[in-house]
Amino acid sequence: MVLFKTPHPDVQVPDDITTWEWAFEDKGHSPLYDESSGPLCGYINADTKERLDWREVKTKATQLHTALVREYGFRPGDTVSLFSTNTIWYPVAMWAVVRGGGRVNGASPAYNVEEMTYALKVAKTKILLTLPKSLDVALAAAKEVGVPASSVLLLEGRVDGFRNIQDLMERCEEQRQQQQEPPWTIPKGMTNADVCGYLNFSSGTTGLPKAVMLSHQNIIAQCHQLKQLQAAGQYKILAVMPLFHITGVVRFCHYPVFMNGDSVMLPAFTMEAMLRAICEFQIKELILVPPIIIRLVRDKIVDGYDLRHVERWSSGSAPISPEIISLLQKKFPWTGFRQGYGATESTACITAHPPSHYDYRYATTGGMLVANTVAKVLDLTTGKELGPNQTGEICARGPQIAMGYLDNPTATAETFDPEGFFHTGDVGHFDDEGLVHIEDRIKEMIKVKGLQVPPAELEDLLLGHDLVEDCAVLGIADDYAGERPKAYVVLRKGVEPTEAVGRTLLKFVKEKKVRYKWIVEVEFTDQVPKSPTGKLLRRILKVKDKEPGRK
Ligand code: ATP
Ligand code: MG
Repeated sequence: MVLFKTPHPDVQVPDDITTWEWAFEDKGHSPLYDESSGPLCGYINADTKERLDWREVKTKATQLHTALVREYGFRPGDTVSLFSTNTIWYPVAMWAVVRGGGRVNGASPAYNVEEMTYALKVAKTKILLTLPKSLDVALAAAKEVGVPASSVLLLEGRVDGFRNIQDLMERCEEQRQQQQEPPWTIPKGMTNADVCGYLNFSSGTTGLPKAVMLSHQNIIAQCHQLKQLQAAGQYKILAVMPLFHITGVVRFCHYPVFMNGDSVMLPAFTMEAMLRAICEFQIKELILVPPIIIRLVRDKIVDGYDLRHVERWSSGSAPISPEIISLLQKKFPWTGFRQGYGATESTACITAHPPSHYDYRYATTGGMLVANTVAKVLDLTTGKELGPNQTGEICARGPQIAMGYLDNPTATAETFDPEGFFHTGDVGHFDDEGLVHIEDRIKEMIKVKGLQVPPAELEDLLLGHDLVEDCAVLGIADDYAGERPKAYVVLRKGVEPTEAVGRTLLKFVKEKKVRYKWIVEVEFTDQVPKSPTGKLLRRILKVKDKEPGRK
């Protein structure tokens, strides 16, 4: 078997404790018991500056867990869904649920009633926590699936007739003499790899989001893997990306506790709010997604902020074009750059750059396998294992690989093989140095006369053209070739969408690529659809492209 191995030594991952015990109880891991780790950090609201340190988080989560058990019948194994933008109360609720042996589920605050109904049904939600602004959608969806309105609570804010979790926690505080619920522990004969504590939806880029079952061990392992790659210095992070996504769960909710570093929550994303917070909190490393990085290099508003304290940018979740990377380096020459590559099913990272590679030289790669992780690359047609520099499907095995999909044995068996490898659905290769190069997703490859054309390759090229602000490439039906690439293009401000511009772009691709990769059509559009986690939603454009009445 051709296996790709991590260059890093193994990390020790405890297998007998829950994430709660690991973060708040365990003498060997919790910052609450480690005096050498300095004053306690915590979750901070970037706007209001409201702050909860780890001791307060522990107290509040204990109270909330107790209240959920006593007043809402919450039991181990129950799912609690969080349907909210970023707030410091989100991780408090998350900790309360895992403290009680439940399953935390995050749902995108952008979901409409139909999407939320699907989410609640798939996750088997018993209690739903939300914000006043999302209450209408939450209630409508809860009604559809039979979750009573009395089991819908607010994380913060007030609405008549609804309770918020601060009320529940305060009541607990008053009744202090009463015993609090004890933390749930891993049952005898099991390890923390056998217990699902998190139900995380995949982004739904290629279809309906899948409810990925993550164990307590998955989360703990990923945090230990990331710590090994952490640059020296005090950890402090700005939670720009949404908390419901796996990156948010790991990077903004769990890892800061383990690292005893502040996690600053950005309640609503705008470029201005992000830039202000970066300066105000002197954030040195940013974990971002490509669409935000594109705005960092192109948006004029950025010039009004002094970002000389920023040490590095980190990108993940979707491919980033070499053009954008080089513009980023030009604009911020003092910074480093890194990527993380992985999926919800791998509790975020399969690969990442170690500090030795926080450098623009390696920026187009997804980094190296994280500790305790092995990979294989399978030929797309024969399924044969391939060696370095050979392109195929990336598959990975390690303690961060998920347990499977909830109640979906068919999808689980298709994605996780008997040897324990997660089949990512991504096409790429490892080079001689062990750096992964991701080309595109199998599902999105355009097949021209049987040859694979990764749309991301053509998007990269077009993004480098002076007339192009943003773009998306997809395959359209072609009688002769099966499929041919078509580009949806957002032009730079001030450029007129004329036929001549379209011809210029077609010619540009012809000059740079082999014939079968040539784009056959350019359509101008105001914007290309992206998910809140920064993914290009080509499937939405595909549907649009096939709408009746279009040429
Ligand atoms: P769904 O599985 O529901 O269609 P999704 O795969 O987009 O959605 P996630 O689990 O959030 O949901 O994303 C994982 C995918 O994101 C990976 O399989 C890969 O295609 C892409 N990805 C993540 N990191 C990177 C990266 N650094 N470079 C390129 N692609 C990346
Ligand atoms: Mg996926």
